[in-house]
Amino acid sequence: MRILIVEDEEHLASAVAQGLRAEGFTVDISSDGTDGLWRARELSYDLILLDLLLPGSNGFQICATLRAEENWVPILMLTAKDGEFDEAEALDTGADDFLSKPFSFVVLLARIRALLRRGRRERPAVLSAGDLTLDPAEHRCRRGDVAIALTPREFSLLECLMRFAGEAVSKRDLLMHVWGDDFEGDPNIVEVYAGYLRRKIDQAFGRAALETVRGIGYRIDASGG
Ligand code: CA
Repeated sequence: MRILIVEDEEHLASAVAQGLRAEGFTVDISSDGTDGLWRARELSYDLILLDLLLPGSNGFQICATLRAEENWVPILMLTAKDGEFDEAEALDTGADDFLSKPFSFVVLLARIRALLRRGRRERPAVLSAGDLTLDPAEHRCRRGDVAIALTPREFSLLECLMRFAGEAVSKRDLLMHVWGDDFEGDPNIVEVYAGYLRRKIDQAFGRAALETVRGIGYRIDASGG
């Protein structure tokens, strides 16, 4: 397994590289964004450890560029600042996971192994099901050329369904991803919001993309309904 580390802090990069080599990985180090992007494009890696703040292109730009080019190499983003905004943005730009510095090598290794097991997973920057599109980074939803205004909760619910377009997503998973693990209200809230969504993305256009899967949950028709 070959890993690329794009990190401008030399000590950190070489310590991580040394640890990974001891675990049997082949490791390349790149200390700036421009070279890192070049390597990621030209050479074949099984995973990229990508620092957020870099000379040259930053981690977000590199990640978004690779995903726009349909390069789905697993990316673990290293964020120096510990903030929710960064984490959300890291995932929006197409990173598979993130870890805030400082981190322990054991945790890093566990995350790397988990990503490698999962393999390449398409995380398109813009999700689509037929003419229904959702851009998480820009927070935009459209049906063809028509913009649809969604509340944050509606947006999050639709995003969750569109990441698995064509597959049924259980109500429990939707509750967990959209309302959080600690939600203690009425689980029927999912149905209420599915109703709101249906009005906005389907009924307003005479379509039926959001399907109820009896006894399970919901599915977005991959063709857009
Ligand atoms: Ca840095």
